[in-house]
Amino acid sequence: MTRRLFWEDMYMKEFDGKVVRVEGDRVVLDQTAFNPRGGGLVSDLGELGGSPLVEVIKEGEEVVHIVRDPARFKVGETEHGSLDWDRRYKIMRMHTTAHILSAIVNRETGALITGNQISPDESRVDFSLEAFDREKLTDYIKMANEAIGRGLPVTTFFMNREKALTTPGLVKLANAMPPAVTELRIVKIGDVDTQADGGVHVANTREIGEIRVQRTENKGKSNRRLYFTLS
Ligand SMILES: [Zn+2]
Repeated sequence: MTRRLFWEDMYMKEFDGKVVRVEGDRVVLDQTAFNPRGGGLVSDLGELGGSPLVEVIKEGEEVVHIVRDPARFKVGETEHGSLDWDRRYKIMRMHTTAHILSAIVNRETGALITGNQISPDESRVDFSLEAFDREKLTDYIKMANEAIGRGLPVTTFFMNREKALTTPGLVKLANAMPPAVTELRIVKIGDVDTQADGGVHVANTREIGEIRVQRTENKGKSNRRLYFTLS
């Protein structure tokens, strides 16, 4: 199991990790600050041991770094990693925003989130809705921006799996949690949203800025997609 340094400090930009396995272009370390692709978030990028990262992925409880130059890695050696922080910080801001938006649309309409894609420059969230009423949507965005503007603290803690699974609303993707995981990480955004989540967030919603809706799309009869950016 890879120690996830980004769970201990989501603002960690550089770190050292020991190589535990190299397979082709895949490098596994004992610990990493690179957040892998998953939960709708695109992978962190940056440099590891002087090699650019192609992508970082999750395999079971391991974080796998796909590197451009695998020849320079040897098991047992310590390597230095540095994140593309500009990209990562945008992902953190986008991700916290997606949670707030989803919580507000869910509260106001009962709609569930059927998908999301959190990218540095534009993100999208899919809702199980028959229609996106223009005026209502404007209201939801206003509510979300108000919540963001309140400067809500974002905190994380761990909870026993059984307790988390029996707390209503906490685990939206129960099947996505492997049974081997006995402690689930919970992310709490002020009084707006609390849920099991493995991704990276800002520490305070003040860091986000303001949501700008780019466009909406119909993705099937009861699926509405919302694209947004931050300013
Ligand atoms: Zn999330």
